[in-house]
Amino acid sequence: MLDERIVSEIVASVVKNMNNKNASKAQKGVFDTMSEALSAVEIAYKQFRGYTIEQREKMISKIREFTLNEAENMAVLGVKETGMGRVEDKIIKHQLVANKTPGTEDIKPSAFSGDAGLTLVEMAPYGIIGSITPSTNPSETVICNSMGMIAGGNAVVFNPHPNAKETSNYAVDLVNRAILEAGGPENLVVTVKNPTKESSDEMMESPLVKMLVATGGPGVVKALLSSGKKAIGAGAGNPPVIVDDTADVEKAGKDIVLGASFDNNLPCIAEKECFVMRTVADRLIKSMTENGAYLLNKSQTDALVKVALTEKNGHYMLNKKWVGKDASLFLKEIGIDANPKLIICETDANHPFVQEELMMPILPIVKVDSIDEAIDLAVKAEHGNRHSAHIHSKNVDHLTKFAKAVETTIFVKNAPSYAGIGAGGEGYTTFTIAGPTGEGLTAAHSFTRQRRCVLVDGLHIV
Ligand code: NAD
Repeated sequence: MLDERIVSEIVASVVKNMNNKNASKAQKGVFDTMSEALSAVEIAYKQFRGYTIEQREKMISKIREFTLNEAENMAVLGVKETGMGRVEDKIIKHQLVANKTPGTEDIKPSAFSGDAGLTLVEMAPYGIIGSITPSTNPSETVICNSMGMIAGGNAVVFNPHPNAKETSNYAVDLVNRAILEAGGPENLVVTVKNPTKESSDEMMESPLVKMLVATGGPGVVKALLSSGKKAIGAGAGNPPVIVDDTADVEKAGKDIVLGASFDNNLPCIAEKECFVMRTVADRLIKSMTENGAYLLNKSQTDALVKVALTEKNGHYMLNKKWVGKDASLFLKEIGIDANPKLIICETDANHPFVQEELMMPILPIVKVDSIDEAIDLAVKAEHGNRHSAHIHSKNVDHLTKFAKAVETTIFVKNAPSYAGIGAGGEGYTTFTIAGPTGEGLTAAHSFTRQRRCVLVDGLHIV
């Protein structure tokens, strides 16, 4: 991890640099209107159909290279524009995208060979894909989706979150610069300067767009699934983490602080509430405080509720201006001068900190008397999103029982949540995790359609 002074120096030099660069050039692939963007990407896609898989892979390699080189720029811009997250963690997220997003190797043909000949199944592009991206991982999602979609042979039109348009458009420009340097067509990835609900509707309704991909909260996933088109929906989560009495409790405390504080808890996979067996709760809390967490008492927790949430008729909602803010700012608001990575507090299971998807560096801890109680409460807190859930335990029966009960797309055992997207765990990465529509961790193969080619009585050579 970088220290704060180094981060501030990086921020100052990157902002200065970007101001200079932005003054002198227009961004590639960024159009004034959605109809201009759609016309440009239509031409690009027609050209791209003539490119080989090897050429696709060259473009993806360049995108990796440019993303690594410009990770800092995008991390700084993302924090500056959205006011959310941490520069040092956003740098790591971009490095993860560059290094662990699959390319064309993810597209695998298959064959049936037998007495009647040879049948080949190949994975074909959809065509132009419309992609709606979130404010929480803006450039990461644009780049990760672009790589997977291009590997699958597609072109992309983005309608990013309006609050993250500069960061997202920077990423669209980066992807186009990389494609051009690798000899690819202009405008293979496009977007609009000022994304709006209207530009999003135009994109979704355009007959040129053959597939839609939404990464965000429940509203956008619902809108997409009502579009009548093939759609991939990557929706909200509220991941619980369980710690039982067989766990390496000290390691669990450290891992949970790492996962729940990463990028101020913006990732949809991050631990958002913790259920711990009463017999090991004090040890867990001690380990958390020794690893960068700040423990609140009851009255401080009550005060924090009034900052993080708004309440109307007993119903709590996120106070959006606090999403992704640093823990120190929350503490300052309730009169505490400290700079921890994470705030922890003891609550009951019905507390709004447990039930709401906060996306803030605040982790409520609920004590339980048995693994069954923990699983029951964790499943309820996950709200049937079937997104992510985590556990620290050495009891195989507990691991299995929770995994079966919670049915999430990602289930991490004995590690920080981000191991689930390939950071310190095996497997590739993605920033579009499609629970509702079932693609799981999306990659190039998710953005292709099967085509079967049959030859009867030939090419079966044994
Ligand atoms: P958000 O839902 O506010 O916005 C996401 C995108 O959807 C934005 O581009 C927004 O403009 C658009 N949008 C929102 N409502 C829409 C509607 N009714 N019609 C059309 N477009 C609409 O989400 P956010 O605050 O940017 O991101 C955080 C949310 O996204 C959290 O709920 C988080 O769990 C989820 N998320 C999920 C994944 C995943 O892979 N499953 C990844 C990142 C974020």
